[in-house]
Amino acid sequence: MSEQERPSPTIEDYLGAIYTLLRDGERVIAARLVESLDVSAPTVNATLKRMVRDGWIVISAEKEISLTDSGYRMATSVIRRHMLTEWMLARVLKMPLSDLHREAHHIEHTLSAEVEQRLLAEMDDPTVCPHGNPLPGYEGEVRDWLPLSEVGVGEKVVLRRIHESIEDHYERLSYLDSEGLMPGAHICVLEVMPFNETIRIRVEDKTVTLGLNLASNIFVSVL
Ligand SMILES: [Zn+2]
Ligand SMILES: [Zn+2]
Repeated sequence: MSEQERPSPTIEDYLGAIYTLLRDGERVIAARLVESLDVSAPTVNATLKRMVRDGWIVISAEKEISLTDSGYRMATSVIRRHMLTEWMLARVLKMPLSDLHREAHHIEHTLSAEVEQRLLAEMDDPTVCPHGNPLPGYEGEVRDWLPLSEVGVGEKVVLRRIHESIEDHYERLSYLDSEGLMPGAHICVLEVMPFNETIRIRVEDKTVTLGLNLASNIFVSVL
């Protein structure tokens, strides 16, 4: 794929967001992108119109958004570039896990296909990003991990994945990082309190309370 065919960083961000929502089986409409990209509705609608014109997406009569073949290829490319950049920042620059996403976000758009290929080999063909989200084509790797919010009291689990929707919010990510809640952390569920929508867990040797919504975006495997 030649470099000239690359869309603007904004369009790449939209493609990535649409891909991720579709991957999770969600119905993608403009309002969902307003939420996920944190942009105004008029801006989203104007951008989507340009994307239809340029052949990246199709919008059905029911207003559902889907990717064209070239939209799909570009979406998987930008997500791969993003995740490989996160690994590079983590391994080469030893940056903290909470900083990787926002730093990679600035760099991902500028990587050439050549650098992407070299990074893939240099980072040992990773199947997930440092936060545990699957590289395109490796969705099966994460299928068996369950949301922390569904783990029973007393169960011991290992944290595997922090969903992209949390990566997008720096304060949430750095909170999890400060509590030691990153891939590899050992967790024991102490109490689930549906009435106030929280879950109390032990991480290594400290007790942490999380909202159930946050916990539903953290995935674990049973020990
Ligand atoms: Zn990220
Ligand atoms: Zn990540």
